[in-house]
Amino acid sequence: MDSHSHEQPRLIDRFGRHVTYVRLSVTDRCDFRCVYCMSEEMSFLPRAQLLTLEEMALLGRAFTELGVTKIRITGGEPLVRKNVIWLFQALGSLPGLKELTLTTNGSQLQRYATALRQAGVRRINVSLDSLDPDRFRAITRVGSLDKVLAGIAAAQAAGFDKIKINTVAMKNRNDDEILDLVQFVVERGMDISFIEEMPLGLITEHDRAETYMSSDEVRARIASRFELVPSNVSTGGPARYWLIPGTATKVGFISPHSHNFCDACNRVRVTTEGRLLLCLGQEHSMDLKRVLRAHPGDLERLKQAIVAAMELKPKGHDFKLNEKPILFRHMSVTGG
Ligand code: SAM
Ligand code: SF4
Repeated sequence: MDSHSHEQPRLIDRFGRHVTYVRLSVTDRCDFRCVYCMSEEMSFLPRAQLLTLEEMALLGRAFTELGVTKIRITGGEPLVRKNVIWLFQALGSLPGLKELTLTTNGSQLQRYATALRQAGVRRINVSLDSLDPDRFRAITRVGSLDKVLAGIAAAQAAGFDKIKINTVAMKNRNDDEILDLVQFVVERGMDISFIEEMPLGLITEHDRAETYMSSDEVRARIASRFELVPSNVSTGGPARYWLIPGTATKVGFISPHSHNFCDACNRVRVTTEGRLLLCLGQEHSMDLKRVLRAHPGDLERLKQAIVAAMELKPKGHDFKLNEKPILFRHMSVTGG
């Protein structure tokens, strides 16, 4: 064995894919109610069903000892979970972890940006679908644009290496702001990814097939004002990136309806309840909370369960826009 063998990924599924990236949902709760993500009235999980932060930290240790190098904290809104900074600090000190990152709606960033940066988070994603306060309120149902913009400014001041904006592109809802949003990130040296809406969870507010906008349409819109040069950057997920020459900005397009990325899929998710999901679009899972609670603190058992779960990872997802039944998990439970 060569001297680098300890760095080789050890989570390998039946199709030879190496799992090196975990998305961990730390809460299903949120201070927003985005129309594509939640219904107006949501019932959230009882707290006893959620993993504790200590259990999550142990999971992080198990995964990194199995070769995982990147953990993204998501939710729900991760920053509404009490003491979540403790978890960032615990994960941030794990040897083997190269990247600890976060997806947030930005509402609490003003308060937490500096602590996150100090815990070792170097890049963050902030979701932002509109620069118009009324429209922002309509899409999030309750959110304040001012607060999110102040959060983004605080993140810039805290010195993250990169801030990326995530925008769900929706026809007749925010598609007329695509160019403005790109301008916004270009001026601030940030990146932006446009996400196609995914059919996750039952929502009441709109018909997804009507608001659906493909990445190709979004890209054509951007190309009307900005030069786009394809980049070969790949994160092993459903995102493709383009550069805007003369700027620091990368533009990503996340097309979950495409199957092209499944072959290179390098990721798994852990739900708030400790269910290890092997594919965002399928139900294959393993209950890691059961292992954690039957054998508290037993790192080896946890690692065995994770290795065994690799056998369950399916070849690909199966999203269809118009077909029902759809998956009954909301994005806030699986971790976006
Ligand atoms: N609350 C945080 C936030 O909004 O960034 C993190 C969790 S949220 C579920 C993660 C990402 O998923 C957000 O960028 C959000 O816009 C996106 N999202 C939620 N529901 C979606 C859906 N049905 N289709 C596509 N993207 C969705
Ligand atoms: Fe909350 Fe994020 Fe879902 Fe919006 S997308 S409701 S901010 S979890």
